[in-house]
Amino acid sequence: MQLGVIDIGGTFVKYAAVDGEGAFLFHGSVPTEAAQGGEALVAKVQRLCDELMEKVQLDGISISSAGQIDNVNGRVVFATDTLPGYTGTELAKRISVHTGLPVKAENDVNCTALGEYWKGAARGTKDFLCVTIGTGIGGALFLNGELYTGAQFSAGEIGHINLYPNGTPCTCGQRGCYEQYASSSALQQLVDARFGEGLELKGFFERVKAGNRDAVQVFEYWLDDLTTGLQTLVHLFNPELIVIGGGISAQGDFLQQAIRSSLEKKIMPNHRRSLQIKMAEHDNKSNLLGAAKKFLDDCGMG
Ligand SMILES: [Zn+2]
Repeated sequence: MQLGVIDIGGTFVKYAAVDGEGAFLFHGSVPTEAAQGGEALVAKVQRLCDELMEKVQLDGISISSAGQIDNVNGRVVFATDTLPGYTGTELAKRISVHTGLPVKAENDVNCTALGEYWKGAARGTKDFLCVTIGTGIGGALFLNGELYTGAQFSAGEIGHINLYPNGTPCTCGQRGCYEQYASSSALQQLVDARFGEGLELKGFFERVKAGNRDAVQVFEYWLDDLTTGLQTLVHLFNPELIVIGGGISAQGDFLQQAIRSSLEKKIMPNHRRSLQIKMAEHDNKSNLLGAAKKFLDDCGMG
């Protein structure tokens, strides 16, 4: 079994060929150019599939995509204006007609969860949550051994938990959403406000780790909002594990320990004992692995 896997993100489209064990035969990436819209994006994915098919004999294609994805029919149920005209796209059908191959599609955070379950931090874990922290905050609910996607493939939108009624306006049209306070972008805004523009998060975290008082104060303010959101999730789902993905997971053990000690103070003792926090292990490849796992599962080969 050899699969073409594609991960459509807001900034990059990553693409790869993998075998049935998840070993990478080839991988690359190109800019998404999201502002050009859904049609241009479909054409781009079709070109990438052509490239993959020239390099490797493929048995199928699986796509991880931003937006809410009908993972049965491979259709985009909803995408925000960052990908204009993408809502309603018959993604799997269009790619299948172009390539003549079977095509599956799944939401990107769900793919992160599947990838980490198959080959990473969540191996062997039946109940876990995946929280991706980047420009926004994404969520996947892996419950009782499988993904839970809700009535309309839209469950796990944890970035839009209400943290502060009447707070900061959000891209979803509401105010005070979790991701306006606890995403990487929210942290960057706090950093800019305290230190002036030009200090990137990598440099900021170096200051935090060195014990710089201003930096620690900003970090703890952000961390408090982050773990208040996680507190709600832990009490709702009683997970064994929370996997933290997205760019912020590069902060590794330091962030893992900071989240754990802040969160432990906010959750009931019985939850405290059974809960683990881990950083995603496959970083920017877990979505591609998850897409492959989705295809294999759907074909009864997972
Ligand atoms: Zn929102």
